[in-house]
Amino acid sequence: MALSGVEIFKLLPKTNCKKCGHPTCLAFAMKLAQRQASLDSCPDVSEEAKQKLGEASAPPVRPITFGAGDKAVKMGEETVLFRHDKKFVNPCAFALEIKDTLSSEEISELAGQVVGSEIDRVGQKLRIDAIALTNSSGDAGKFESAAKLVAEKAPEVPVILCAENPGAAEAAVKIFAGKRPVIYGANSSNVDAMAEIAKANKAVLGVTANGLEELSTLTEKIKSLGVEDMVIDSGARKAKDIIEQNTLIRRAAIKKGFKPLGYPVINFVQREDSLHETLMAVIGVAKYASITVLSSIEKWKNLALFALRQNIYTDPQVPMQVEQKIYNIGEPGPDAPLFITTNFSLTYFIVSGEIENSRVASRLAIMDCEGLSVLTAWAAGKFTASKIAQFISESGVEKEISHKELIIPGYVAILSGSVEDKLSGWKITIGPREANAIPTFLKTRTA
Ligand code: SF4
Repeated sequence: MALSGVEIFKLLPKTNCKKCGHPTCLAFAMKLAQRQASLDSCPDVSEEAKQKLGEASAPPVRPITFGAGDKAVKMGEETVLFRHDKKFVNPCAFALEIKDTLSSEEISELAGQVVGSEIDRVGQKLRIDAIALTNSSGDAGKFESAAKLVAEKAPEVPVILCAENPGAAEAAVKIFAGKRPVIYGANSSNVDAMAEIAKANKAVLGVTANGLEELSTLTEKIKSLGVEDMVIDSGARKAKDIIEQNTLIRRAAIKKGFKPLGYPVINFVQREDSLHETLMAVIGVAKYASITVLSSIEKWKNLALFALRQNIYTDPQVPMQVEQKIYNIGEPGPDAPLFITTNFSLTYFIVSGEIENSRVASRLAIMDCEGLSVLTAWAAGKFTASKIAQFISESGVEKEISHKELIIPGYVAILSGSVEDKLSGWKITIGPREANAIPTFLKTRTA
C-alpha cells in the first residue's frame, strides 16, 4: 500500500537542507506521496529509508518496456486517472494481429504494412507499434515458422506472441532472443510453464483471466515465480466491459495502491467491421489501455487513432510549441515571400507543409505566443501589432531580404493597418485564412 505524506516524512533526514529543491522535508514528503517527486532528489536519504520508500515512490502502474532499440515500446508509469490532473506518460501502443494460419505471402504483406505505417505528424513519428502474432493454428511448428517470417520482414518491430500452448510460445520466443517480446497467454491452467518460459527468455508475460479476481490471483502467483514484468488482460472484449474493467484496474492501482493490478493493460478489440473496430480501439486509447490489438490497419484508421492518441497523451497544461525564429522553407533568395504565424506546433507544421507543397521557397517567421494558435493568441493579446513589429524588427530578417513585405494570417486581417503603422516602411499583405489556400495564394502572386 502507498504511504501517506506524514509516514514518508518520518523516514526522511528531517534537516530541511533544501537540496531536493523543496523548502522542507515535509514538503518533499507530500510531493513524494502524490508521486510528483522522485526519491533520488534527496541525496541524504538512508539506505533503510530508501528500501521502505522505494515501493511508495514507485509508479503505481509498473513501467515495462517490450521490444528493443529505437522502436521499443514503453508502457505503464501512469500516476493519475485523469489527464487534467497530470500528463499521461506512455501512449497506448497499437499492434496488428497476424494469424499463423495465413499464408507466407499474407504474413509478409501484413508485416510490411506495419513497417510502412509510420507517419510524421506535428514533428512526431507515429506508427503501428507492434505485431501480435497469434497461434490460431494451435500448432507449434506453424507458429515458429510464422515467427521466423515476421522476424525477417519486420526485424525492428516489437512482437507479442499470443499462444496458450507453452510449447508453441517456447518455440517462437527463441527467435526474438534479445528483443524482449511479450508472451501473451498465461492463464490459470498453464501459468507455471508460461512463467518459466518468460523468465528463461527475459520476456514480458501477458496474463489473461476471467475477471479481475482471477487476474490478481494470477499476477501474484507469477510474481512469486520470479516474473516481475507483466501485461494484463481481464478478459473484457465488449465496449462496456473494457471501459468498466480498465477503469477498475487503473483505480485499484492508483487510488488503492493495489499492486496485483498495477501493470499495463492489453485490450483485444478485433471486429469484422473496421469502423466498429476503430471505435473499440478509441475506447482502449481513451480508457487506459497500454496495448490495443487490431485486426487491420487501413491508413484512414491509423490516422484517426494516431491523432486521438497524440491528443490524449499530450500535456494539456503545456501547449505543443516550436522555437521562435525565422524558418527557411526550401532555399529562399532575398526576394522570397516572408510569412508570419504563431508557434503552436500544429500551426507551424500545417503552414510550413503548405508552403512546401507550393514549391515556392519562402521564409516563415514563427513568433513565440506560448504555443497558442493564431486566433487564440490574438484574443489573448499575444499576437498583437506591436509584438509582431517588435519581433520582426529584432529578428534581423530585414538584412536577408530585398523587400519589406510581411504576409500575415487572414484570420488577423484586422491587424494589417496597425502593423504597417508600427513597422515603418513595410507593406503588410493579408494571407489566406486557411493554410490549405497558401499554394494557390503563392502561385497567384508569382503568376
Ligand atoms: S534534500 Fe532530503 S533532507 Fe534535504 S530537505 Fe529535501 S528531503 Fe529533506
